[in-house]
Amino acid sequence: MKWKGRSRSSNVEDKRGMKGAVGGLGGLGIIIVIIYTLLGGNPGDIMQTIDTEQPQNVPYVATQEEEELAEFVSVVLADTEVVWAEIFAEQGIQYTEPKLVLFTGSVQSACGVAGSSTGPFYCPGDQKVYVDLDFYQELKNKFDAPGDFAMAYVIAHEIGHHVQNELGVIDQMNEIREKVSEDEYNEYNVRLELQADYLAGVWARHVQGKNLLEEGDLEEAMTAASAVGDDRIQMEAQGYVVPDSFTHGTSEQRKRWFYKGYEAGDLSGWDTFGTDDL
Ligand SMILES: [Zn+2]
Repeated sequence: MKWKGRSRSSNVEDKRGMKGAVGGLGGLGIIIVIIYTLLGGNPGDIMQTIDTEQPQNVPYVATQEEEELAEFVSVVLADTEVVWAEIFAEQGIQYTEPKLVLFTGSVQSACGVAGSSTGPFYCPGDQKVYVDLDFYQELKNKFDAPGDFAMAYVIAHEIGHHVQNELGVIDQMNEIREKVSEDEYNEYNVRLELQADYLAGVWARHVQGKNLLEEGDLEEAMTAASAVGDDRIQMEAQGYVVPDSFTHGTSEQRKRWFYKGYEAGDLSGWDTFGTDDL
């Protein structure tokens, strides 16, 4: 994908090098505690609040390669903002841009504390996508899905979850969760994930339309989509496949729904919930 020198998103929050879960007391925090104590309060009361809110700043030194990757991710995010603003506008709705948080180690989100092993994720509670850039290496080494466009697909998939949130799909999922068994819910979850793949495909089509795709890009995305399919992950983890616990869909399904979105370039074929042909 052509991306160097292109415009970046202003929605990236860089929290690399910060301690997400347990922060120490910053200078301001200590002053507040002293004043509070002088006024006769119990410092323990406010220590806890400050503790979670005050990330510790450790000077973070990123490698050149990592900085490039951060820039790349920012350009991809900017592209998603353009395409979804356009598609939403056609439907007469306004697109609220999500934030993308870069982190290392662990991070505090409205969905709880997450570590790098979680992989990139979207939290509907704070409308943010969380990414540890190390995942790029993981895609290459663990999932055998190298390339910048593989990473771009992952970002576009997470943004797809935000689009679902904007369009009310996540709310519907929460309602369904209350009513159905866990196995049934897993089936809905597969549909949710395949829909996010479809939405990533819509984004890829937009990039193609601007003549920014390079040879091999689509293959990279498809390889990534199939590599992170649940059957592959489960095979590698346990050597066999358990269809009932699928939550993301099989490799073949993920690839296919990504490509469907790519071919359509809009929301016309996005209904993974209303089809028997998953
Ligand atoms: Zn997902």
